[in-house]
Amino acid sequence: MDRPEFAAAIKEKYVANGSGDMGQRFEVYDALFHTGSKLLEYFGSHEHICISVSGGSDSDCIVHLVCTYFPEFLDKIYFVFINTGLEYDATKRHLTDIEKRYGIEIKKIRGKSVVWAIREFGFPILSKEKSECIGGYCRNRPGYIRKVKQTGRYGFSDNQRKLAEYIKENGIKVSEKCCDYSKKKPILKFQKEHGIDLNVTGERKAEGGQRASAHKSCFEQSNKRMHADKYMPLWWWSNSVKAIFKKIEGIRFSDCYEVYGMTRTGCCGCPFAFDIAEELQALYEYEPRLFKACMNVFGQAYELTDRFKCRRKKCLPDSFQLSFGFKEGGD
Ligand code: SF4
Repeated sequence: MDRPEFAAAIKEKYVANGSGDMGQRFEVYDALFHTGSKLLEYFGSHEHICISVSGGSDSDCIVHLVCTYFPEFLDKIYFVFINTGLEYDATKRHLTDIEKRYGIEIKKIRGKSVVWAIREFGFPILSKEKSECIGGYCRNRPGYIRKVKQTGRYGFSDNQRKLAEYIKENGIKVSEKCCDYSKKKPILKFQKEHGIDLNVTGERKAEGGQRASAHKSCFEQSNKRMHADKYMPLWWWSNSVKAIFKKIEGIRFSDCYEVYGMTRTGCCGCPFAFDIAEELQALYEYEPRLFKACMNVFGQAYELTDRFKCRRKKCLPDSFQLSFGFKEGGD
């Protein structure tokens, strides 16, 4: 579909027959038109495109958009899922459903598992940056010692400092390296092997958090760190644009959303997740085997975060703390 055809198709669907008042209809139309125009430009100017499919709702929207409106590019697209070794059954089922619905193949690639990386280097805790600092602090690296002692917006709170101290004194291994080994390295290897020149991901500015300030636009050129260009088609989509797109296009997200009630899915059980308490509750109810695995792998990270009161909201409800034999209120 070229630009005028795409514009006509979405005008018909979203303005003439859309939902909401005229303002909302045009908001969705504008967002889609901008996305379609950029997609045509970037997909047209690259030869080997990799679309990351996580099984989450944002990548669902990208797959649907491409397969429904721009199938002429499918010959040069690889759809890729990275299996970290700790994946929701709902996600695995959903990938099969996507393959059937759109008649595509999603390549499942796997590096070292999260479990292996955590055994080797330690577990992640609080955030990527804080895990890196705590790991360096435990190894007495001066730069990291300075960072842990630093206060203010980008430094450590008193409670986080106490946690770092406790981790060091008790020889506990903390690291953010599972991300490198189970996600970044395997996708980089795939991209190099397949000569990928455009990497497509589902990040959206409206998700907020650190991601929102990590990019200035939906496209980034390759550089020393990134050997392929990067394009985020949904970068400017608001939550309401995404909700209307889902409704009008008749997209069904994975059971993680539709049945378990989760509002987002990331790496399963990751202690960085803002909504980790809700995620664990859903896992406990719907995927008890995976819940147990997450408690074995990340349990100490959840428990220490709660014990040192490093978050406003607990990772583990009290009933979970007690049933897993964690002590309350310190040593
Ligand atoms: S998202 Fe979290 S659990 Fe997943 S690989 Fe990265 S640090 Fe590890």
